Parts: sequence; structure tokens; C-alpha cells
Amino acid sequence: MKLTGYRGSHYNPRLSESMGQIMRKKFVAGNWKMHGSLKSNSELLQGVCSGVAGLTIDIVVCVPYPYLAQVGETLKGSNVAFGAQDVSEHAQGAYTGEVSATMLLEFGCKYVIVGHSERRSYYGDSDAIVAAKCAAVLKSGLVPILCVGETLDERERNVTAEVVTRQLDAFIALCGVAALANSVVAYEPVWAIGTGRTATPEQAQEVHALIRARVARGNAEVAAGLRILYGGSMKPGNARELMSQPDIDGGLIGGAALVAADFVAICAAGQ
Ligand code: PEP
Repeated sequence: MKLTGYRGSHYNPRLSESMGQIMRKKFVAGNWKMHGSLKSNSELLQGVCSGVAGLTIDIVVCVPYPYLAQVGETLKGSNVAFGAQDVSEHAQGAYTGEVSATMLLEFGCKYVIVGHSERRSYYGDSDAIVAAKCAAVLKSGLVPILCVGETLDERERNVTAEVVTRQLDAFIALCGVAALANSVVAYEPVWAIGTGRTATPEQAQEVHALIRARVARGNAEVAAGLRILYGGSMKPGNARELMSQPDIDGGLIGGAALVAADFVAICAAGQ
């Protein structure tokens, strides 16, 4: 089944033509995970908003559900968008504890992280469930940030390419390759998340190039415009080098997104 109902686009704001070359606008997203309080969120957002004012890259914070209203209100008039960290694959119904994409849309969300490795490993989100969640997100008009990445064991067994391709192909099989025109992909090697151990720029670039090539087999234009973020212990000290790789279009930031100065410095590195 191919997804129908996601927003097609003729003019693509992610792209600008420069000297005949396609430039992808950089994208930095913070994943707050299960951190925050009304007071600390307010302080963090104040620091982020004042620090990133004037930057023209895309900047997003993905926050816990209960804080969506607070964050939406606080970010009004700023150049920072916001999103959620997960979503139900269902539109509505008897699914206790779940939150639908249209509910997120009502709160002003623009983005949803889908398939984060913590959801895959702790909550059983399979490739099929992740694809179904992305389909629900796209259908509502939100933008999924689809996370893919291998575990340490998989890297050591030299199956990184197979794992990442399988995760990406599950999305393509359900939603169609064209749906990636309205999506963001994040490559997050699981062994680098929250560990302080970062993929080298070369290791990350190799997988990013593989992802882009896989998408290009289905649609070269979509591949050229697709933003592929790196996630896994990105910090102010390594962000610039990672984001200067040809296929790394930004970052998905965990720990460093909770420290305003660090998140701002990473955004500035992507500018
Ligand atoms: C993440 O959780 O998506 C992540 C990249 O975390 P960290 O930056 O802390 O490694």
C-alpha cells in the first residue's frame, strides 16, 4: 500500500539553487527525551531563542507531550519550531496512553521523531510499526524525523548497511519514496547515543551517502533534497566537522540540547 494524502510540494523550501548546485538547508533538532519541568523549560528556551535569533538554518526542539502547549506559547515569534518524540500509528480510538498525529498538529507541532532507538529497543517499535507511525504523521501534514541506525553488535558484525537499508526500506515500502520529500532522516548509530562516543565524520558520511544512494535509486530528485541528520553525542566541539561532510545536513541532539549554550553553539556550527 502506498501512502496517499501526504502533502505534495512543488516549491521546496529545503532547497536553494546556488551556482547551479543544490544546497540543502541545515537542520538541527533537539531531543529533550524525558527531561524538563515548567521552570527549567522556560529557562532553556529563553537561552536557546536569544542565542539562535538571526540564524537561518531550521531549528527544532522535540519535547515531552505535557509541555507542548508551554513550548508552543514560549516559542511564538521565534525562529525555533517544535515537535514531539513519538506518535501513535492510529488516527483515534481505544488506545490508552497514545497520542495521535492530529492531536500534535492541534498543538502547533511541525515535527515528530519516529523510530528513535530508545523506542525501538525499550518499547518494541518494529520497522513495520515505525513505518506505520511515519505514514500517520505524513497523513496529518506533520514531518517525521525517521531515525535509523545500527547497534554496536551490528557494526562489529559488519551489517550496518543491511540494517540501515532494511529500516529505510520499511518506510519506502509503506509510504513510497516520494514521501521522503516531506520527511527528514536521522542516522543515529545506537552505540554513539548518550555514550560520549561519536562516529567519526568519515564513518557517519559513509552511512549518510549510503542512505542518499538508496533513496536515489527510487527518486534522484527526492534524494538530492533529503535532509539526513547525524545523531550520537554531537557536541559543540565536533558539530562543525560532522556537518561539513557532504551528506550530513544537520544533527539530532540529545544531551547537548538540554544545555542552552551547547545547543546554540551546535546550531551556530550548522549555519
Ligand atoms: C539522541 O538521543 O537522539 C541523541 C543523539 O542523544 P545524544 O546526543 O545524547 O547522544
